[in-house]
Amino acid sequence: MTRAYSIASPPNGNRFALCLNRVAEGLVSPRMFALKPGEHVEVNEPLGYFTLRQSEKPAVFIGTGTGIAPFRSILLNALPQSGPITLLFGARHPHGVLYREEFEELAQRHPHFRFIPTITRPDDAWSGGIGRVQAHLDAALAHHETTPDVYICGMKEMVDDVRALLKQKGFERKQIIYEKYD
Ligand SMILES: Cc1cc2nc3c(=O)[nH]c(=O)nc-3n(C[C@H](O)[C@H](O)[C@H](O)COP(=O)(O)OP(=O)(O)OC[C@H]3O[C@@H](n4cnc5c(N)ncnc54)[C@H](O)[C@@H]3O)c2cc1C
Repeated sequence: MTRAYSIASPPNGNRFALCLNRVAEGLVSPRMFALKPGEHVEVNEPLGYFTLRQSEKPAVFIGTGTGIAPFRSILLNALPQSGPITLLFGARHPHGVLYREEFEELAQRHPHFRFIPTITRPDDAWSGGIGRVQAHLDAALAHHETTPDVYICGMKEMVDDVRALLKQKGFERKQIIYEKYD
């Protein structure tokens, strides 16, 4: 059984991090969670093209759930030398906003990086965005003076929805780079 997982960490010798969701009824992901230190897993070489295309160009990253994984990898690697980047990250609950402190800290350190977390089920303590990422698309795009490239990662339904919204706004195919998890 083979499954694809995005690398969630920047280049670091022979080590890498993954960001995994346990799909309760899934075949492989529960096994990943059951792995013990020292167990072996067969891994193919890294594949794919979901990478920062033009690092100096403004970019908007839109991710939900574990779709945050490639964005964390790219941000930690590219942010010091990149053009302006906005990260719009959607989750259900506050605890689903993975790496929140790390992104907030990056936003403080890099004025050209903006972090917009949004959740669909807020609690009283939540002070970020409310609703799905689609509801915050205009705010994420508005941050950039020139039209950004838009990178989308997550489940098919969200990716297709955001792509349709961007096409309505006149975005061209090559400005929309996406990765679907299902
Ligand atoms: C290019 C690519 C990169 C991926 N990167 C990641 C990653 O970084 N982290 C990760 O957790 N998954 C990632 N996935 C999804 C992963 O490959 C598996 O599909 C997922 O782990 C479920 O496998 P499974 O065998 O447990 O479930 P299966 O028995 O194959 O059942 C599939 C079910 O799981 C759902 N599903 C798939 N992925 C997720 C998810 N992340 N969250 C919730 N439901 C899901 C599908 O909609 C489907 O209903 C990626 C997929 C692709 C194609």
